[in-house]
This record gives sequence, C-alpha cells and structure tokens, in this order.
Amino acid sequence: MENPADRLKPLINCPSCQKKYDPKRVLLLAEDSKKTALHLECTACGASSLVFVSLGRMGAVSLGMLTDLDREEASRFYGREAVSSDDALSMHRFLMDFHGGASGCLPQERRKR
Ligand SMILES: [Zn+2]
Repeated sequence: MENPADRLKPLINCPSCQKKYDPKRVLLLAEDSKKTALHLECTACGASSLVFVSLGRMGAVSLGMLTDLDREEASRFYGREAVSSDDALSMHRFLMDFHGGASGCLPQERRKR
C-alpha cells in the first residue's frame, strides 16, 4: 500500500518555518477517502504540527497548525470526543447548587436531594 505521507508530501510545509517535511517524521492519525489528518515533526525547526488535508472539487487543500502535542499524545487524543456544551452546562448547574469545599465534590457518600 502506498504511503499517504509520500503522496501528500508536496502539499505539506511546516507552518513555522515553511520547510517541506521529512516523511519519516510523519504520523498518520486518520484517513478516509476525502480527508487525512497527520502529525508532523519538522526536522528543520523542531516544531510539531497537526495537518489536515482534504480532497474536494477544487483539489487538495491542506491546513496546518502548530501543536504542543508530541506524536504519542497526538495519536492518543486524536478522535476523542471533545467536551460538549451539555457537559459544560451540567458542570455549571452542579457548581451553582454546590456550596461545599473541594472535598465535598468527591464521591465519598451519596446524599439524596
Ligand atoms: Zn519547521
């Protein structure tokens, strides 16, 4: 199977120093027929970035952004569910009703409301 990094290499530059990436430092995070997500470490400046390449009617479009995630962290966290607005709202409601200290948040005993 063809290495996706080789195919995409001409599209990918370091967002920090604009150099072309060395494909040895490319980690494929996710790929389907239309889009690819990569984690890259720049051999020139050492910056890590996440690069998303999508294929559309206008051809390939790439978007790179700098990250402080290393390769392992990127593969661990990529695709995980983000905190939803429902999560934020339920936390907000919890804190509105809560008047104890931090130890009261711990599930030592459950009280009925
Ligand atoms: Zn660079």
